[in-house]
Amino acid sequence: MRLGVLGWPVAHSRSPAMHTAALTAAGLEGWTYQLLPVPPEAFADTVRALPAAGFRGANVTIPHKEAALALADRATERAREIGAANTLAFGSDGIEADNTDAPGLLAALGAPPASALVLGAGGAARAAVWALRGADARVAVLNRTRTRAENLVEDLGGAVVDDWEEAELLVNATSVGLRGEPFTSFGVEVDALHLFRRVVDLVYRPDGTALVTHARERGLVTVDGHEVLARQGALSFERWIGRPAPLEAMRRAI
Ligand code: NAP
Repeated sequence: MRLGVLGWPVAHSRSPAMHTAALTAAGLEGWTYQLLPVPPEAFADTVRALPAAGFRGANVTIPHKEAALALADRATERAREIGAANTLAFGSDGIEADNTDAPGLLAALGAPPASALVLGAGGAARAAVWALRGADARVAVLNRTRTRAENLVEDLGGAVVDDWEEAELLVNATSVGLRGEPFTSFGVEVDALHLFRRVVDLVYRPDGTALVTHARERGLVTVDGHEVLARQGALSFERWIGRPAPLEAMRRAI
């Protein structure tokens, strides 16, 4: 039985290591999880060919999450509402699309916040806003391109803001930090972190991000992108395999 992650580029993905460790820890011999580097123009044809090649499911990452939702025969309500899918499952009744980024974020958070400032308006921000609004949080959205934030809020609720403002939780759903940029790349001083009690950085790097480092130094509760990755991966695993994911083995592999 085969699983994999579709993306372009995708070589940097930690999902093969994480899911291979999960399959081993669960004693699922004969199951494999592999990188599937596929350019946008070949995405739909490749996905449709996967079931016949022995695939039971796949994760989907940049830039294919919207295309994955569009080509699926069925989609969960959350994938439809978010407008993107990160998990495909192949069954006798066709292709089902789901989004485990949203419940993965809530699982990583533990208790949901009363209020949140979400930075970004791309796919990751949409999943975060959907999850937080569903958990009854007051959500403000700030994005470099304001019109994208306006579109997001129109679809999913919340309020667009033009500057960092106080909230229980800060969520970085931009790609700022991915290349090791300093905290000031967010356009604010490090002092701005006093506005929050908790911080989630969806961005992850092997040596951590400046946002998480500064938040920890200030004594804030932090959740890094590796933990969110593990949680969304665990939910995808459970969708495909139908049993609890070995979360500790997945964390160690990341
Ligand atoms: P995306 O759709 O490409 O959106 C990128 C967002 O970042 C946009 O809102 C963009 O603003 C903003 N942005 C990019 N460069 C910026 C800059 N220099 N200054 C300010 N804003 C900037 O990407 P995505 O899929 O939402 O993913 C966002 C990040 O989350 C990525 O780093 C991804 O790796 C990470 N992620 C992590 C997980 C996890 O499991 N940990 C899951 C999903 C995503 P504009 O609209 O103005 O372009």
